[in-house]
Amino acid sequence: MEILYSSTRDSALKITASEAILKGLADDGGLFVPDHIPALTCSMQELTGKSYQEIAYEVMKLFLTDFTEEELRNCIRCAYDSKFDTEVIAPIVEAEGTYYLELFHGATIAFKDMALSILPHLMITSAKKNHVENEIVILTATSGDTGKAALAGFAGVEGTRIIVFYPKNGVSPIQEKQMVTQEGDNTLVVGIHGNFDDAQTGVKALFNDRELAEEMAAAGLQFSSANSINIGRLVPQVVYYVYAYAKLLEEGKLSEGQRMNVVVPTGNFGNILAAYYAKQMGVPIGKLICASNENKVLYDFFATGQYDRNREFVLTSSPSMDILISSNLERLIYRIAGENADRNAQLMDQLVQTGSYEITEQMREKLADFYGNYASEEETADRIRSMYESTGYVLDPHTAVASAVCQKYVADTKDETVTVIASTASPFKFPRSVMNAIDGKYDSLSDFELVDELSRISNVEVPDAVKRIRTAPVVHDHVCEKTQMKAVVKHFLGVDA
Ligand SMILES: *Cc1c(COP(=O)(O)O)cnc(C)c1O
Repeated sequence: MEILYSSTRDSALKITASEAILKGLADDGGLFVPDHIPALTCSMQELTGKSYQEIAYEVMKLFLTDFTEEELRNCIRCAYDSKFDTEVIAPIVEAEGTYYLELFHGATIAFKDMALSILPHLMITSAKKNHVENEIVILTATSGDTGKAALAGFAGVEGTRIIVFYPKNGVSPIQEKQMVTQEGDNTLVVGIHGNFDDAQTGVKALFNDRELAEEMAAAGLQFSSANSINIGRLVPQVVYYVYAYAKLLEEGKLSEGQRMNVVVPTGNFGNILAAYYAKQMGVPIGKLICASNENKVLYDFFATGQYDRNREFVLTSSPSMDILISSNLERLIYRIAGENADRNAQLMDQLVQTGSYEITEQMREKLADFYGNYASEEETADRIRSMYESTGYVLDPHTAVASAVCQKYVADTKDETVTVIASTASPFKFPRSVMNAIDGKYDSLSDFELVDELSRISNVEVPDAVKRIRTAPVVHDHVCEKTQMKAVVKHFLGVDA
């Protein structure tokens, strides 16, 4: 059955999946949502024994109904290949009786690779399907992680170029090194004198620049966004929850129909929304446990029904969850508002005007599948240490937040359901926070010394992604003022004549 995509602010709008992928965001500012969530067409039992790629096909074909089998299989083949350091793509590790679904075996050792390695292929396929002749230019501002994952995804993909701006003094040394060593003729990485907001504001201005758009069109180019609200980033994430269930079933850790809880360390609400979609498709998922760090907007939301961003922004050791506006939550709000776009638009307008909104009692009842909690910085560090001491397994700070919240959930509810924790980053990405949590004595070591020490104590080989940047030459050394961003873009694209 064909699935069309509506806007969360206009349910009358109906476009195809490939159109939604190309557009990213609806013109009315809403997010694209499938007009219904498709049910899985095969049983979980039938999915056992299948590879990650095969399950990806079985899931994604149901959402991307205007892609042919050949097109979709080709996208999957190009995405989930030797860029991952393990053939299984997303291994499951058992520790202390809980299952850690490791989503960090891709090019940048964090879970954004799961979606960003396939998005470029979905995008060029969508362009072809819609007779878009222009080359796609991805433009992104990054506070560190997304930029590198997008670069790695788009580098060398024919028909695309990618430009990433980052705050010159606002990312970690390893993050910067990861970006400036990015190879690929179609990539450009530029540091700006300013903070992340300046980079973001500059990028938005370029997206809205009519004159620039015309000059680019004349040269056969058009902008697109790899932003986390693109449906082409959400759909690939549904896959790994279906895969996790099928694997645990195959290994006898679950029996058919038995429930599985999931815990997701959450920032923008994309990953956990994918788990929610997997549940709606028929995967026997019990609770969706939403884990926050000290920026606990979502915990408060699930506890009170009020979303309130008016609070101090806390910098934590799990930076990818330091978010006060979880953009993908809008898709859930739309759903629990009974797909009432007007109601949703009102709430989102309140969020812009006042920084907060409150949902109705009736809407709250539809959140019964969710449980929210959070972990403080101290609890997060304690979790890294106690897990290491009891099992030798080392968690990154984001996954540790989820693990700490999982313990709180079990203490609160005595629920003993089999649980899968989404493990969103390799500890090698955050060696300083991780090693400091394990023992204060490491404080004086450099980041790369910490990497070696982490490898030694955890008995895990240093991932290639980290090895490579140690010796890789810097290929991007551009730095500019925030006022020069447009000139830099025009020059790279060759439209400055
Ligand atoms: C982006 C990110 C998250 C948050 O995921 P959302 O989909 O934004 O909720 C968690 N952990 C890591 C390591 C991330 O990079």
